[in-house]
Amino acid sequence: MNNYDCIVIGAGVAGMTSALYLKRSNINVLLLEREMPGGQLNKTTDIENYPGFTSINGTDLALCIYEQIKKQNIDYKYGNVIEIIDSNNLKIVKTNKDEFKTKNIILATGRIPRKLGLSNEEKLIGHGISYCAICDGMFFKDKEVAIVGGGDSALTGALYLSSIVKKVYIINRSEKLRATSILQDKIKQKNNIEILFNSKITNINEENNKLESIQLNNQKLKIEGLFIYIGFDPDINYLKNLNIKNENGYILVDKNMETNIKGIYACGDIIKKNVYQISTAIGEAAIASTSVKNNEY
Ligand SMILES: Cc1cc2nc3c(=O)[nH]c(=O)nc-3n(C[C@H](O)[C@H](O)[C@H](O)COP(=O)(O)OP(=O)(O)OC[C@H]3O[C@@H](n4cnc5c(N)ncnc54)[C@H](O)[C@@H]3O)c2cc1C
Repeated sequence: MNNYDCIVIGAGVAGMTSALYLKRSNINVLLLEREMPGGQLNKTTDIENYPGFTSINGTDLALCIYEQIKKQNIDYKYGNVIEIIDSNNLKIVKTNKDEFKTKNIILATGRIPRKLGLSNEEKLIGHGISYCAICDGMFFKDKEVAIVGGGDSALTGALYLSSIVKKVYIINRSEKLRATSILQDKIKQKNNIEILFNSKITNINEENNKLESIQLNNQKLKIEGLFIYIGFDPDINYLKNLNIKNENGYILVDKNMETNIKGIYACGDIIKKNVYQISTAIGEAAIASTSVKNNEY
């Protein structure tokens, strides 16, 4: 079993930033990721509020940070963390295939899209239902699709889809959108986007194992793609054996980004906070990794 000073779990922007700071502080660090580096950045089109770039594609930004990871020779491994065991000064991180020992851990596993919770939803993922417009939009070229939600992510997704598909319906449960006015203005300029206010999906209908239509409270909509953008929740299943303090799944940290368990820190979208952005995730990662360094020596 390998021994590390710190294991960072999750290679989104928070995890990669943490690993960079740790490595540059001469801390023996391992970065673990279960998918590809970048996390939610890979699901983002144009980022226009990250300083230094008037506009940058999320995947390009992820690649730039990953280049830094490689250049610093940071130990980066693929692995889905399934359990953490805390035995005082030593922690064991178990992935689906390995086990590692470490003195400190930074949790940077972000959050994942919330589900509608309707029958057929799970079954039709990849067969008409998606949670990522950038990843799956091209499957619906020149088709009619719907996107559920009224926040920034939903509207960004709708704008992206509008340049690929024939028509996008935005399904919003209230009579107002929550998204910023800049995005709402951009939506108004698209003639293939229609907003259905006061609408709620009550049923997802299938035909031959594919999405056929959705039933709204006031009409049936025949669509080939349904994109669900109704918010996010952290996936903290792997922390179930730890007595870690959280609020609705969001990890509680102090000003040093340390959790209630000594030597376990958290940063980025996994923590309870007010602003879920790239800039905040990066700032918290800098604090978490510096706290690891300060507590080490
Ligand atoms: C559509 C969309 C548009 C956005 N637009 C903007 C924007 O314009 N500007 C802005 O500032 N922010 C934007 N955001 C928010 C921003 O992307 C996030 O706040 C930020 O990327 C969060 O980074 P993170 O590292 O905390 O988490 P994530 O990006 O969620 O990364 C977490 C990583 O952990 C990995 N992981 C999870 N569980 C495990 C496990 N058990 N084992 C191993 N690895 C695991 C995941 O695979 C993932 O790679 C947007 C988000 C979305 C979804």
